[in-house]
Amino acid sequence: MNDAWSPDSWRHKPIQQQPEYPDAEHLKRVEQTLAGLPPLVFAGEARELKRQFAEVTQGRAFLLQGGDCAESFAEFSATKIRDTFKVLLQMAIVMTFAAGCPVVKVGRMAGQFAKPRSAGDETVDGVTLPAYRGDIVNGIDFNGKSRIPDPERLLQAYHQSTSSLNLLRAFAQGGFADLHQVHQWNLDFIANSLLAEKYHQLGARIDETLKFMRACGLDGAPQLRETSFFTAHEALLLNYEQAFVRQDSLSGGWYDCSAHMLWIGDRTRQLDGAHVEFLRGVGNPIGVKVGPSMDTDELIRLIDILNPQNDPGRLNLIVRMGADKVEAGLPRLVRAVQNEGRQVLWSSDPMHGNTMKASSGYKTRDFERILAEVRQFFDVHRAEGSYPGGIHIEMTGQNVTECIGGSRPITEAGLCDRYHTHCDPRLNADQSLEMAFMIAETLKQ
Ligand code: PEP
Ligand code: MN
Repeated sequence: MNDAWSPDSWRHKPIQQQPEYPDAEHLKRVEQTLAGLPPLVFAGEARELKRQFAEVTQGRAFLLQGGDCAESFAEFSATKIRDTFKVLLQMAIVMTFAAGCPVVKVGRMAGQFAKPRSAGDETVDGVTLPAYRGDIVNGIDFNGKSRIPDPERLLQAYHQSTSSLNLLRAFAQGGFADLHQVHQWNLDFIANSLLAEKYHQLGARIDETLKFMRACGLDGAPQLRETSFFTAHEALLLNYEQAFVRQDSLSGGWYDCSAHMLWIGDRTRQLDGAHVEFLRGVGNPIGVKVGPSMDTDELIRLIDILNPQNDPGRLNLIVRMGADKVEAGLPRLVRAVQNEGRQVLWSSDPMHGNTMKASSGYKTRDFERILAEVRQFFDVHRAEGSYPGGIHIEMTGQNVTECIGGSRPITEAGLCDRYHTHCDPRLNADQSLEMAFMIAETLKQ
């Protein structure tokens, strides 16, 4: 690998999963506009997340990462952002309180617009058009005009990201996330479920603890009144990402200021490819999806390229094998990383290896298999003496019916009730909270 990195050195490498823009000049003009706009995050924040990642890597905290598979322009509202933020916070509280473990919260939000595709084209009733690649690239409607990649969409994605992030910052720091309130929150549709009962019981215990702290004069800590919340997305569209690379005035280092954390997808992690080249040069904490085709040598080489200093906060390996492949595929990878003394944050994405087609035609995931993958992820790490550091999930605060199963089971026939996703099926609030309780139990052991 050539050591000279620059924000555009990725342009000399083979690249996968990019849209074909019909007008290169138009794209260039938009890139220049983006490069002149204010960044979404600043380098100091990315460094703080890196510090928190190091805590997780060393077994002292847990990483919770979640949000939509793909954000969309049409479904963009304060209510949607608030409800997803609420569920993530509720999950974090369950894990923090029930398991006594600090939780680092990262939203797949405020920038998660681009989708990699298994096939570049889509054929419906004999008509073939380019695949939908996310609202940042083209339109979801199946007609020739909508499927043409349009650079103006990069600007719209940026503006939507800035307003989402603005609201998330306000929620996190403006009093909305005050622990005295959070455990009393309820999302109407979980009000009568068994899960709500469990959550209320936890809330009562938190209440008691807060009263005790107040009596001791200990309730003034800012951590009780606000929270920290970070953003992340897949760094898929490198034209967009490059426009946000800025040099930090403090350290002189380069950061991708489109989000705090960026990750490389399972389809774009080639050792000599453009995505690995781009992310190796920015100082943010970064992730790589690790699917069943990863072999041990490849993984160690990837780690060496992306984290040559063996910095414990730098690299998150997001394992997405599928419930039936974890036991066979993960132990050898964990062992190799342990043997080579590499410091990485291991997390589990139990969504992407468990996608299936329901008999009704809907793309779905079975909640049982999702939980089974998480359990096996924990088991393998425990058996290998390694730390299972986090989860990465596709979820929403809306009451959707996209994944089958759960404590108020969604059936295959019920999928059509509220199937709203623009890409992959997400957990709803019920299913997300159920997962949080399961993980809290496991973390306690
Ligand atoms: C995703 O996270 O939406 C995704 C496409 O994942 P993967 O790269 O693991 O397939
Ligand atoms: Mn997805």
